[in-house]
Amino acid sequence: MTTSNKPHATGRVAHGDVTKRVGVEAIEARGVKVDELVEKLVDAAGAEFTTYYYYTLLRMYLAGHEDYKEICEVARLEDRAHFELITPRIFELGGSLPFDIRTFADRAGCPDAYLPQTSNGKRPMSNPFDLPNNVTAAQVLEVLLEAERCAIRTWSEVCDLTFGKDPRTYDMASRILNEEVEHEAWFIELLSKERDNVIRPSGHFRRGAPGEAPYSKNAGFYNP
Ligand code: ZN
Ligand code: FE
Repeated sequence: MTTSNKPHATGRVAHGDVTKRVGVEAIEARGVKVDELVEKLVDAAGAEFTTYYYYTLLRMYLAGHEDYKEICEVARLEDRAHFELITPRIFELGGSLPFDIRTFADRAGCPDAYLPQTSNGKRPMSNPFDLPNNVTAAQVLEVLLEAERCAIRTWSEVCDLTFGKDPRTYDMASRILNEEVEHEAWFIELLSKERDNVIRPSGHFRRGAPGEAPYSKNAGFYNP
């Protein structure tokens, strides 16, 4: 049978041409501005990556609140999983991560989730034993909550940009968004009780194991 009977056998990308991607052309034809999408994804990946770092620090300063530390740990590992889910997509679309991690951190789409009482991270560590010991759990939970809210706004925007046009990026973004919405609910529950003594249940069920995220796990890329 000749290719003329096979409508998808050929297209605008020439046979054997490795400088172009049909996976990009197909979504451009459906209205995605791929350059802009890649920039957005790099900013979003930067936010996930830096959040993973800051959550590591914030979790340490929840010392003594083992229940909060567990929730923080799940959110932390899931944000790392989000970074690892979206990074391959950046390359598939013809993009790249920045070559300098400082560039990457600076262009993160969300503000740094600084540990409270550290003057936005500027607090000198002249004496490593002189740690910020006046940090309260409520202060830490507030930082965690606002980081989740920024993530929800970010991934909602990626969903908007790709809905009905780029099924693969949309699928990834919507799975990440699912988890960010859960994270917000968890930190609302914890902060509300800790700071205001008001019960606002999140609907949280324990994951199988910390970081075993129901949505991003299905992608099969993260297996602790
Ligand atoms: Zn995340
Ligand atoms: Fe999150």
